[in-house]
Amino acid sequence: MSKEKKAGGRPKKKYEKKRIVAGICAIAVAVVFLFSCLYPVISRASAVDDAKAARDKAKQELDDIKNKKTNLVKAYADFDSQLTAVEDEVAAITADIKNTKEEIERKAIELEEAEANTAAYEEEFKTRARIMYENGSTSYLEVLFGAESFSDLLERMEVVGSILDYDREVLDKYVESQKIIKNAKEEQEQLLERQNSQQRSLELKQEQLEITLEKQQVLIDELSDDEDLAAKAYAAAEKKYEEEERKAQEEIRRKQLESQKSALASNYTGGKFCWPAPSGVRITSPFGYRYHPISHTYSLHRGIDISTAYGTNILATEDGVVIIAQYNSSYGRYISINHGNGYTTLYAHNSQLLVSPGQTVKRGQVIAKAGSTGNSTGPHCHFEVSYNGNLQNPLNYLN
Ligand SMILES: [Zn+2]
Repeated sequence: MSKEKKAGGRPKKKYEKKRIVAGICAIAVAVVFLFSCLYPVISRASAVDDAKAARDKAKQELDDIKNKKTNLVKAYADFDSQLTAVEDEVAAITADIKNTKEEIERKAIELEEAEANTAAYEEEFKTRARIMYENGSTSYLEVLFGAESFSDLLERMEVVGSILDYDREVLDKYVESQKIIKNAKEEQEQLLERQNSQQRSLELKQEQLEITLEKQQVLIDELSDDEDLAAKAYAAAEKKYEEEERKAQEEIRRKQLESQKSALASNYTGGKFCWPAPSGVRITSPFGYRYHPISHTYSLHRGIDISTAYGTNILATEDGVVIIAQYNSSYGRYISINHGNGYTTLYAHNSQLLVSPGQTVKRGQVIAKAGSTGNSTGPHCHFEVSYNGNLQNPLNYLN
């Protein structure tokens, strides 16, 4: 409670109202001012984030299409080998059918011959029997009547009977072999029927596979078109992301240069910096051009990467004033410090920031906790040194 309110009184209230309005205005102006100061940084960070999200989405879409296409191409190859197998089967059955037809033709000829042979022998037998009968007295009968005794008669009858039996036997053989050939021919004809129906079903299968393959090809072509579009979209998104990153880097560089003009810049007068990440000594990636494991392109590595344990201390390498302490999608949570005389340092991928912009820091002061935020594959400290806005090899400044 304010004393003024306790005192009360109309005129005072009016005065109070004016003060409240003025206060609100002042706060509003302050908020607008603060926001307009922060806006470029916020909008730049979110522009990079948005561009990165769009790039990742475009990449995902492209990968999805590629996976689908790979599966379709695999399926196509599978159907294609099925078709080849069926084509081979059709060729084989067609050859079998040709053989069977030839066999049937051969059997038909054999049968014709056998029938002719049978007919001829039959004719011969009939003729012989007729002659025997017609010349009964001189042939069979003569033979029979010529018997001298009953036993002789029986013997002679047997002989005549044997002749007839022999003829019949030969004839039977002819008929039998004719029957065998006929059966064989019929078997071949039945085989041909089966082979024909097999051929028809194989041809149907072949036709269906050809239709399937055509459809698959259409799908693959469509996906190839989609893939081209997605690849273009991805390339554009990647370019946009790189552009936004470049702008973000420029913004950092601008701030670093700007900070040099400020009167509160401390004075780094040369000499070695202290090691920024005492938990690690191993440099996993040096300063300079390198193949990037995530973007798969050659690019300038702006600093050195020092392997760290997660959550360990990150130190200010020299006395200075914090210029930037914020997040962006590449650096993650990062800090930049102005050491004066044109020198700035930058510490990226932290899990936690312990200082704020404008804050004065001492050499060796804990400014952050190590982490793997932003464009990073594991906990490490990415450390940069700039002189008058130009990147330096940090190893030249470290113990
Ligand atoms: Zn790095």
